[in-house]
Amino acid sequence: MPIATVNPANGETLRTFEALGPAEIEQRLAAAETAFRHYRTTGFDERARLLGLAADLLDEDRRDIARTMTTEMGKPLAAARAEAAKCARAMRWYAAHAEELLADEYPAPADVADSGALAARVHYRPLGAVLAVMPWNFPLWQVVRFAAPALMAGNVALLKHASNVPQTALYLEGLFRRAGYPTGCFQTLLVGSGAVEAILRDPRVAAATLTGSEPAGRSVASIAGDEVKHTVLELGGSDPYLVLPSADVARAARTAVTARVQNNGQSCIAAKRFIVHTQVYEEFAERFTVGMRDLTVGDPMKDSTDVGPLSGERGRADLEELVDDAVRQGASVLCGGSRPEGLDPELANGWFYAPTVLAGITPAMRIHREEAFGPVATLYRVESLEEAVALANDSPFGLSSNVWTRDADETRRCVRDLEAGGVFFNGMTASHPALPFGGVKRSGYGRELAGHGIREFCNATTVWYGPEAADAPARTI
Ligand code: NAP
Repeated sequence: MPIATVNPANGETLRTFEALGPAEIEQRLAAAETAFRHYRTTGFDERARLLGLAADLLDEDRRDIARTMTTEMGKPLAAARAEAAKCARAMRWYAAHAEELLADEYPAPADVADSGALAARVHYRPLGAVLAVMPWNFPLWQVVRFAAPALMAGNVALLKHASNVPQTALYLEGLFRRAGYPTGCFQTLLVGSGAVEAILRDPRVAAATLTGSEPAGRSVASIAGDEVKHTVLELGGSDPYLVLPSADVARAARTAVTARVQNNGQSCIAAKRFIVHTQVYEEFAERFTVGMRDLTVGDPMKDSTDVGPLSGERGRADLEELVDDAVRQGASVLCGGSRPEGLDPELANGWFYAPTVLAGITPAMRIHREEAFGPVATLYRVESLEEAVALANDSPFGLSSNVWTRDADETRRCVRDLEAGGVFFNGMTASHPALPFGGVKRSGYGRELAGHGIREFCNATTVWYGPEAADAPARTI
């Protein structure tokens, strides 16, 4: 895949970039190693100061970087601005909380004595240079939610961003440099996916995190496994959205539209499968379909646009194949089902797809099991909570889940039984720095955000103080 900015709203190639060669990659790996040697010894105050400065710069740049993101991957401009603001908030959150999240842990005094020690503690140390292989769909947020905790923990970062967002990738490197981070603490590697293996195998790279598709995750995880290096994988999702009889159906339907089409439908945590109890099915289907049909598809630079283009030609072709396969096998199209009509002529070469609702889905259809990465919803009718949960779990993915109910027993059973990294009641899944984020099954493993995220790239070091050891902490003596 060429490293280039191609505007998905009109197919125009705006800038192309040369991939780094072996000598340039070597130079950056050496810089990361050198930077880590010093940066790992800095205190939390200094790290928080630098991250706070980066957050301030990002706030100042918000409008410009939002335009770059929209130009590179097509999300509506307002959403791009909101993404930049969210990144600055997350940076400040980690700047404020990292020290407490990585505070030493002390076993109970009786256990310490039982181990034969005067004292013992668990101390969190950074791992080193962490390689981040990132996708284009939230081109700032995906990177920041890894980088903010990783840097606060004392690691250094190597970013291999998606090949279609090179300007955003370079912006991030410049952002951390302008904030005053020492050279080599955060570097963008403009390379294609073919270069990842050699970088990951390099002994100067300690660990890797990948957000993206299952094939990419499998490849990176198997190389890292071969090298015995830690990985975090955030992969695809096909999140269920359950609507049960006690739900506020009007609100559930309104939220469902946003949950499905946020980011032009290209979000791993977008609700994709709408599983509705038969008692409220007709009302939900009607309201949801009207909401999806009424969305404005068009130029993502305009504030009036709800849904912009898909990020690439291949992505749209994949989505069309999924819809066509379902329709061929008998799915009914409640709205959409094709490329939108009536777009401005200058958008004729853009990769748009109409918001679509499909009903009558059967397990034989590919869309029943595969992720629809675009504004396409599937609607299912169920007779009971048990059937809803079984259907929700009948997926290779397990990223998040949404449930609309006002019933306490149903709430408890969903928390217990849904196979996912999150359960969101009477709302839609969204990430927040204080809440761990990640999945089970083929949605990946490990967690980002919160304390879980910052500890992923730390060495939880056991420190055991035997008799006459110096500097033992008073707390467990
Ligand atoms: P993708 O093709 O897997 O690309 C993601 C990143 O991986 C890019 O930097 C890509 O580089 C790189 N890559 C691709 N194949 C690779 C390989 N074999 N070895 C090493 N690196 C490789 O993902 P996508 O299809 O563009 O993105 C959408 C997917 O990401 C969806 O499945 C979505 O659900 C998932 N996603 C998950 C989360 C989450 O948090 N769970 C968040 C966002 C997106 P190139 O661009 O150079 O190919």
